[in-house]
Amino acid sequence: MIEIENVHKSFGALKVLKGIDLTVDKGEVVSVIGGSGSGKSTLLTCINGLEPIDEGRILVDGTEVHARSTDLNKLRRKIGIVFQQFNAFPHLTVLENVTLAPRKVKGMGRKEAEEIAVRQLEHVGLGDKIKVYPSRLSGGQQQRMAIARALAMSPDYMLFDEVTSALDPQLVGEVLDTLKLLADGGMTMICVTHEMRFAREVSDRVAFFDQGVMAEIGPPEQIFGEAKNEATRKFLSSVR
Ligand code: ADP
Ligand code: MG
Repeated sequence: MIEIENVHKSFGALKVLKGIDLTVDKGEVVSVIGGSGSGKSTLLTCINGLEPIDEGRILVDGTEVHARSTDLNKLRRKIGIVFQQFNAFPHLTVLENVTLAPRKVKGMGRKEAEEIAVRQLEHVGLGDKIKVYPSRLSGGQQQRMAIARALAMSPDYMLFDEVTSALDPQLVGEVLDTLKLLADGGMTMICVTHEMRFAREVSDRVAFFDQGVMAEIGPPEQIFGEAKNEATRKFLSSVR
């Protein structure tokens, strides 16, 4: 379970998160929507401890992310994160990209790491690409490789930050299908997304961020059907 309690975060004088409260249960899929600069990405980087916070706390399975005593490397193994930009190692094959972290971070042997990697690559539909270099993959395939790479660490949680935003429109669907497969498999996920159809169809809850505040959260039917918040309605009418 991820518990976010009254989290405040500034960059210098700029208040980016202004008291965020959000609990994500095991197996839950929460989509985060909202305008550019509303603090969505910052929240994700705070959850896995990439950024410090100014106030409040974030607990992952009861461990306080920003406590001095917390072993962040250990905690981060539980949390997979995939960003908008592909960040593959160009000089490594797809298989080597996916086995790298299990081998280096977990100290896993080559054989076991490769078995897991092949399974994850098959799972995201890249079973026939294990020997190629990332530059030979389409954008959608590269993002699916990034997802397989995160999954190879056997995380309990997955954070996605606009993973389809940099893709050509015709490649978006295959990546969203991969996310949907993961969600259906019971993965606990927080998905920052611009894909309203995905948010509506796959999420258990949708959170709307507005200028550092979580202005509204609820099941998709509520957010997309009868949003209570004026800013939510305005945002949704601007993206549809
Ligand atoms: P979103 O993902 O919702 O578009 P972000 O969380 O990326 O928003 O950013 C929120 C605000 O914080 C923006 O105004 C952005 O420019 C600012 N910001 C984000 N990261 C940094 C940083 N490392 N240093 C300074 N300002 C930042
Ligand atoms: Mg962002």
